Order: sequence, then C-alpha cells, then structure tokens
Amino acid sequence: MNLTEIKNIFYIELENLYPKTEIESFFYLLTEDFIGLKRVDIALDPKYKIDKILQQKFISALAKLKNEYPIQYIIGKTEFYGLPFKVNNDVLIPRPETEELVQWVINETQEKRKKKKGLTLLDIGTGSGCIAIALAKNLPDAEVWALDISDKALKIAKENAKLNTVNIQFLNENILKVEKLSVKFDIIISNPPYVRELEKSKIQNNVLLNEPHLALFVKDEDPLLFYDKIAGHALEILNQNGMLFFEINQDFGKGIVKLLKEKGFQNIELKKDIFGVDRMVKADLHK
Ligand code: GLN
Repeated sequence: MNLTEIKNIFYIELENLYPKTEIESFFYLLTEDFIGLKRVDIALDPKYKIDKILQQKFISALAKLKNEYPIQYIIGKTEFYGLPFKVNNDVLIPRPETEELVQWVINETQEKRKKKKGLTLLDIGTGSGCIAIALAKNLPDAEVWALDISDKALKIAKENAKLNTVNIQFLNENILKVEKLSVKFDIIISNPPYVRELEKSKIQNNVLLNEPHLALFVKDEDPLLFYDKIAGHALEILNQNGMLFFEINQDFGKGIVKLLKEKGFQNIELKKDIFGVDRMVKADLHK
C-alpha cells in the first residue's frame, strides 16, 4: 500500500465523524509521528510505499479515531504555547483557552517582575504541567511550583518539565484536603475542575469518554468548591501584593468575582476568551 491509498481509507472511514480538514490533519499528524514525514514530504512523494507493520499502525490508529479517541492520546503528544507536551489519558489535553490564561499571567506580571527578581509561582491542579511549564519557560527567573492530586498526572508533568528543560517543584497533594502549605508565593494560578455533572450531555464524546473525569467535573451542588478552597489558601500563602489567576466555567464569572470580593481580594478582573465567553479571572491581594 502507499500513503495516498491509506489517506483515502481515512477519508472514507471517518467521513461521518469528522470534517474533511480534521481528517487530513489527523493523517498528517500520524505520518509525522510514524514515519517522520511532513505534509510537504508527502506532497512530493504521494505514492510513498508503506510496509505491513506501518499499515497495521495506521489501521489501528484509524480504529481508535472511529471510537472518538483523541488524536493527541494516540500519538502521545501535543503542543501548548508553542512547546511540546507528552499526554496520556491521565491528564487533560491542554486547551487553547488555557494558553490565553498563560498569556494573561505573563502580561500582568510584567511590572511585578521589573520590581522583584525571582517571583514564586504555584500552579494548582497542574495535570500535564502545561501552565507551570509554559510559565517557567517564559519567566526564566521565576521559581515555579506545581501541585496535583494525581501521582499519575505528576509523572507526566515531570516528564514534560524535563522535555522542556525547566525546573519545577512538584507537590502531590489534594487541594481540598491539605491543611497548610508551608511555602509563600507571589502568584497562584489554577485551572481546576469546573464542569458540572449536569453539563455532561453537552460534552463531546471524545472528551467525555476519554479524558480524566477527576480533572473535569465538580458536583452540581457545589460548582465553586475548588475556587473557594484555593482562594482560602491563597489568603494564607500569597505574599503581600500577590496575585491569583483562575480559569473558570463560562457560567460562573459573576459568582467567582463575588466569592473573591467576599474573601477580601481587590482589583478583580473578569476576562473573556477568543470564543467570547467569560473564561478567566484575576485578583490582587493587598493584605
Ligand atoms: N475547558 C475544559 C473543557 O471544556 C474543562 C477544563 C476544566 O474543567 N478545568 O473540557
């Protein structure tokens, strides 16, 4: 078989599930991963012959895509903020909205970084480590810590820190249970679980059936649980003039602003993402 034949099989088998451009992008991600060939290489040699073993790999990837298994888990990697990340189904696949949060943290801390070298940062619920690592890479003199309840997620986050040659202090803790964190920080960031169980029917199968529910879902009765706990800890462990950044559920912008106000945070700012919905919040703490 040659690559054009395989590509045609992909188009036929996946056409009811994905748009054509997406099928194309799956195919090229696989050719790059399996054979190291990029799109231009294939354009130059569309009849590139593949042996039985490779054929088998394409067919097995095709079967997974038919089951709506995410391409990032099939190839075991993705990109976030222009950096490479390993992923498996112990961690959420990094989202573009979260890149916007990272960008906001970098912009908003510019003044602070001029005044103080070596800011300390904590990412709560780090998962693949994408927020902590992208920040460590872009704020070279910061000291970055990252916490997660899942030791399996931390294993991936540690591999990602190595892959991106950054130094991160990892903590294996349940933020809902931990009593006291003994380190102080200038900036705390978190993208905690924020999807309510009742929203499950709106979630696509590729997410619902494959990504870790531990990282996604909160109980309908207490959707701001993580925000309440994390903001509570932040009052204790943020330094004077510290900052708190959250990624949020689009339905809870006002609720989270209110919660932060009640806890005593100042300059609370709600920000929309590229899709035009409330997606992140920033607050200062002047004690
Ligand atoms: N934005 C993610 C999603 O929609 C949810 C991330 C989270 O719960 N922190 O799947």
